[in-house]
Amino acid sequence: KVEGKNTHTIFVPEMMEDNKRKLLLANKIIPGLKDGEFSLYYQPKVNPYEEIVGFEALLRWNSPEFGFVSPVEFISIAEQSGKINEITYWVLESVLRDSATLIEHFGSKLSISLNLSVHDLRNPKLFEDIVRLYKELDIDARCIEYEVTESTYLENFDMANEFFGKIKDLGSFIALDDFGTGYSSLSYLTQIELHTLKIDKQFVDNLGVSKRSTLVTKTIIEMAKQLNLNICAEGVETREQTDFLIANGCHQLQGYLFGKPAPLKAILNTFTKR
Ligand code: C2E
Ligand code: CA
Ligand code: CA
Ligand code: CA
Repeated sequence: KVEGKNTHTIFVPEMMEDNKRKLLLANKIIPGLKDGEFSLYYQPKVNPYEEIVGFEALLRWNSPEFGFVSPVEFISIAEQSGKINEITYWVLESVLRDSATLIEHFGSKLSISLNLSVHDLRNPKLFEDIVRLYKELDIDARCIEYEVTESTYLENFDMANEFFGKIKDLGSFIALDDFGTGYSSLSYLTQIELHTLKIDKQFVDNLGVSKRSTLVTKTIIEMAKQLNLNICAEGVETREQTDFLIANGCHQLQGYLFGKPAPLKAILNTFTKR
C-alpha cells in the first residue's frame, strides 16, 4: 500500500505536467499560425546522379514561450485537439505559394511534397481546397506530391483510396511514407493509387549492420520495383548507404548527406539549378 501511494505521488504530477504542456501547446497552435510562428523548411531529394529532383516540405514551430517544438509532438497534439486541418491548410497554401519560386530556380520537372495526416483524409473540404488553390495560384499539378503514412490509409481505406484517385486524376502524386514500419498487408499496395514508396530511415540505417537486415531492405526495394513504383529512400547519411541504394535501383535519395531541411531562402542560396 505504501509503495502504491508512493508511485502515485511520483506519477500524478508528471502526468499533470505533461497534460498541462499539451493543453498549453494545443491552445497556442491557431494563434501561432496567425502570428507567423510556423514556417516551412525544405529538404532536397536527389536522383542517382545527385541532381536535385525534389523537395519535401517539413513544418517548424518556433514558439516564443516553448522554443522550437518538434513536429512529432505538435502534429500529434494538433490531431488530438482537432486542429490538424488548420495546420494542413496552412502548409498546403504555403507550399503551393513557395512552389513557384522553387520551380523557377530548379526547373519545371521539380517534385515538391508535403505531408498529410490521418485526419486530413477524413476532411471532405481538403480536396476542394486543393482544387481551388491550384486554380488560384496557377499550380502545375504534376509538381506536387502528397506523402501519407501506412496507418493513414489503412484506418480509412475506402476514403483514402477515393482521395488518392482524385489526386491522381488532378495530375498530382501520392507517396506512401515510412514504408515498412506499419502493419499493412502487402496486397493493399496493389489496390491503391500509389506513385512513390518511401523506404523508412530504419531500413536505410540497417544497411551494412548485418547480412539479414541488409537483405530485408534489399527485398523491400525489389518488391517496390516489381510493383513499378518510384522508390525514395529517406534518412540517407552515408556514402555506403548511397552506393547500396543506387546499386539496388532506388530512384530518389533523401537525407542529411545531401542536405538538411532548411528555409526556402537558404535552399535557394545553397543549391544551384541542375
Ligand atoms: P517524416 O515525414 O518521415 O519526415 C522525415 C523526418 O526525418 C524529418 O524530421 C527530417 O528532418 C528527418 N530526416 C531527414 N533526413 C534525415 C537524416 O538523414 N537523418 C536523420 N536523423 N533525420 C533525417 P522532422 O522534420 O522532425 O519531422 C518529423 C515528422 O513530423 C515527419 O516525419 C512527419 O511525419 C511530421 N511532419 C513534419 N512536417 C509535417 C507537416 O507539415 N504535416 C504533417 N502532417 N506532418 C509533418
Ligand atoms: Ca514525409
Ligand atoms: Ca518518412
Ligand atoms: Ca516518419
